[in-house]
Amino acid sequence: MSTMTHAFEADTGQILDIVINALYSNREIFLRELISNASDALDKRAYLATTDQTLLAEEEGAITLIPDADKNTLTLRDNGIGLSEEDMKNQLGTIARSGTKQFLQQLSQSAESKEDASGTLSLIGQFGVGFYSAFMVADKVEVISRKAGSDAAHTWSSDGKSGYEISPASRDVAGTDLVLHLKKEAKEFTDEARLDYLVKKYSDHIAYPVRYAPDGAEIRQLNAASALWTRDKSEITEAQYEAFYQQIGAGYDSPMLSLHNRTEGLVNYTSLLFIPTQRPFDLFNMERKSRLQLYINRVFITDECEDLIPAWLRFVRGVVDTPDLDLNVSREMLQQNPSVVKIKKALVRRVLGELKKQAENKPEDYTAFWENFGLVLKEGLYEDADNRDKILEICRFRSARSGALISLKTYLEQMAEGQDEIYYLSAESVEQAEASPHLEGFKARDIDVLLLTDPVDEFWLPLIPQFEEKNFISASRGAVSLDKFDKTETEAETDKPDEADFKPVLSVLKSILGDQVKDVRLSGTLTDSPACLVADENGMDVQMERLMRAHDKNFTGTPRILEINATHALIKSLNETAKTNASDMMLEDAAQLVFDQARILEGKAPADGAAFAARMTRVLGRLFS
Ligand code: ADP
Repeated sequence: MSTMTHAFEADTGQILDIVINALYSNREIFLRELISNASDALDKRAYLATTDQTLLAEEEGAITLIPDADKNTLTLRDNGIGLSEEDMKNQLGTIARSGTKQFLQQLSQSAESKEDASGTLSLIGQFGVGFYSAFMVADKVEVISRKAGSDAAHTWSSDGKSGYEISPASRDVAGTDLVLHLKKEAKEFTDEARLDYLVKKYSDHIAYPVRYAPDGAEIRQLNAASALWTRDKSEITEAQYEAFYQQIGAGYDSPMLSLHNRTEGLVNYTSLLFIPTQRPFDLFNMERKSRLQLYINRVFITDECEDLIPAWLRFVRGVVDTPDLDLNVSREMLQQNPSVVKIKKALVRRVLGELKKQAENKPEDYTAFWENFGLVLKEGLYEDADNRDKILEICRFRSARSGALISLKTYLEQMAEGQDEIYYLSAESVEQAEASPHLEGFKARDIDVLLLTDPVDEFWLPLIPQFEEKNFISASRGAVSLDKFDKTETEAETDKPDEADFKPVLSVLKSILGDQVKDVRLSGTLTDSPACLVADENGMDVQMERLMRAHDKNFTGTPRILEINATHALIKSLNETAKTNASDMMLEDAAQLVFDQARILEGKAPADGAAFAARMTRVLGRLFS
């Protein structure tokens, strides 16, 4: 038998060219592709050997990397199923056996029109060229192979341009040697450290050992060769989960939850997810990147798959491994891939379900989790309408009454008689909220208010007006009336100050404060403080306005309503003064100070700092004169 020369099928050379230049932005992944092919060949042989003992390999299945820096070659050796001459012709000689022509046509069309780049990517994603990625780093490739169960061996060789040759060869045992004659600029792939790095990066968890064996030197295994997630749950200890969690760089803590699952059905996948105990350092990066690792049949694809888990669950770490994706799927394609979409949905459901269980069974652990990750989870309230109810269920909010983190369900269970609204107060911190005059009336009537202190709260609240048919009502808005909670009607009646009695102070304040306020009126909620500012029923909430200002320095917002406490001694005496001597200069200072004080309690500075200081000095001066 002699050497046979074969031309590539029409267009193949052209396609190769395109592929080599366009398919992979990152040529280093050729190693992943070739190791994956070898791993498949080992799988195939092991599988066939289960019914035909003669096919069993003499030695344990393994992949060996043999670099030769002098010759600038890298050989990948496996003792897998091997290739016959026919296999070489049929499987190495043609690329993308079907649809080649169409592919090329569409590719050149979209290249001409310069549009529909995503369409091109999607085509490339479906286009299997694993083996040909070798030509990204090599200008000549030799495949010396002997098929298991046969004595004949052959060498297939090609420059990846014109065609290929097949000639007889000899090989002691079944398996394949793939010799890459590296391009000049690809010499790095004979370097031990570089290979070590790439194997660990892409092939650490394939089922077979990948060994480094420069001729004459000692053999060293580069990968872990044990995909923890492929093992049975019952065989894995907590310590092993923890070690793995740390190995994948998820964190140095121990995970709060390790969720290990195998799913078979419409889509098949194994997931090993971790919920950390501590915040990962990049949790609040602007990119909001999720970091689940995606594997296809134990072959590492990416750890930047944004599409496997939503950004609002970005603290979830771990691995997803599925056989249902093509190894050549481009990252850009993952998002629309129906299997990925299904997996994402299932993962979200699972994580939410497990968090709910944790909240019920280990409330203390859950509270600690919530303190760290609650504000990220709450992003889901406005980003994921489908899961909104499930997320709300596991949300926790600071109760003004008990200081504890409680669920909305608990809030509802503990509502006062006659209460049919959920009261909340937005503030920058719990301390600030607790000091707010807006809480006074609620405290006095033992009505709980949820203290919302995360900026994200201002984004979901407008979208979610209700929980279980109870409206969320801001305690810092006007029109909150607490009269209905007062013990008896007569009590409420007698306590209730008469608006008409306070007309003098109301109109004096209005005229002094002018357009600094939208209105001045009697408060229905204050008990201790003389005054507070509330938002108009239709206006922006206090906290929302602060957020807007943070984004836009010139944002002034709408003027607030000043509510005064008619039961407060100061307001009563101001009213008396206003009745008898409305033009008293003291009234002007008092009005401004009451207003500025209310601003300060909201976390704002006085409207005019210098004027405030001057007024304060004047008032103190009178006190001590
Ligand atoms: P794919 O793996 O997607 O089928 P490739 O271009 O990567 O496409 O490989 C083409 C074919 O060549 C494989 O399907 C396999 O039959 C064969 N092949 C590649 N590498 C090996 C190997 N190391 N041992 C045996 N067969 C191989």
